[in-house]
Amino acid sequence: MKAPLFLEGSVKEALSYGCNALMLYTGAPQNTRRRPVEDLHIEEAQQLMQENEMPMDRMIVHAPYIINLANSVKPEVAELAEEFLQKELERTHAIGAKYLVLHPGSYTTTNPETGIHTIVSNLNRIKSFPDGVIICLETMAGKGSEVGRTFEELEEILAGLDHPEHFGVCLDTCHISDAGYDVSDFEHVLDEFDHIIGLKQIHVVHLNDSRNPKGSHKDRHANIGMGEIGFEILHSIAENERLKDVPKILETPYISKKPPYRTEIEMIRSGKYDPQWTEQYEAS
Ligand code: FE
Ligand code: FE
Ligand code: ZN
Repeated sequence: MKAPLFLEGSVKEALSYGCNALMLYTGAPQNTRRRPVEDLHIEEAQQLMQENEMPMDRMIVHAPYIINLANSVKPEVAELAEEFLQKELERTHAIGAKYLVLHPGSYTTTNPETGIHTIVSNLNRIKSFPDGVIICLETMAGKGSEVGRTFEELEEILAGLDHPEHFGVCLDTCHISDAGYDVSDFEHVLDEFDHIIGLKQIHVVHLNDSRNPKGSHKDRHANIGMGEIGFEILHSIAENERLKDVPKILETPYISKKPPYRTEIEMIRSGKYDPQWTEQYEAS
């Protein structure tokens, strides 16, 4: 989301790729400076969503990734994160979106258990949940000291919450593969998720290829079909019946500074992969 059209601009950009869902940051993902909601062209954006038959729950907000609710070494970091998160929840509500995707956090120099407990106590300090907004904890690659690299860790967080009804999960295909899950047997991964957390808790899927093999804990996204997961698997995840109603979001890198989403969406929709597809972006 950026000046001058803000939210309206985000919807326009997404529509230009032929999408039927979108995800946005309410400002730069690497900082917490935010414009007042009055400036965001919310009504125009909602109108566009309606005209294009996109229900508002197809507009997803991603919290900035510098928020670290797991930091118990510098409690002021977690405190700032918590304050920002409260405002971000209100902003998500003001925009009219339903899902706010959040990275659980990194435990830095402590350990996963301490990280989990710190996240739980910080999430339990959220003062008020705006009507209908759901925080989706994202499955993480396990890069550095990231918490949320296993379904068990996410479940431990969810189980500790005072208000679990305001929470869910965002499943990132690059992250779970990097975390060590075998996405080539995706039905089995879903069975495992269902057993530990419950499939109903998945509200968003991040559909990304990975530059690195299973279990590498790197978190480097690749374009669809250009990574270690590959087109066939990603296409089958996009079409999986058990996730039929869950919006799929691409977080794949730009190619030569150009957004690749129009072609990626086309290929996923048609099920036909063109091995030369990136050429049109590389040229000129
Ligand atoms: Fe994320
Ligand atoms: Fe993601
Ligand atoms: Zn990632």
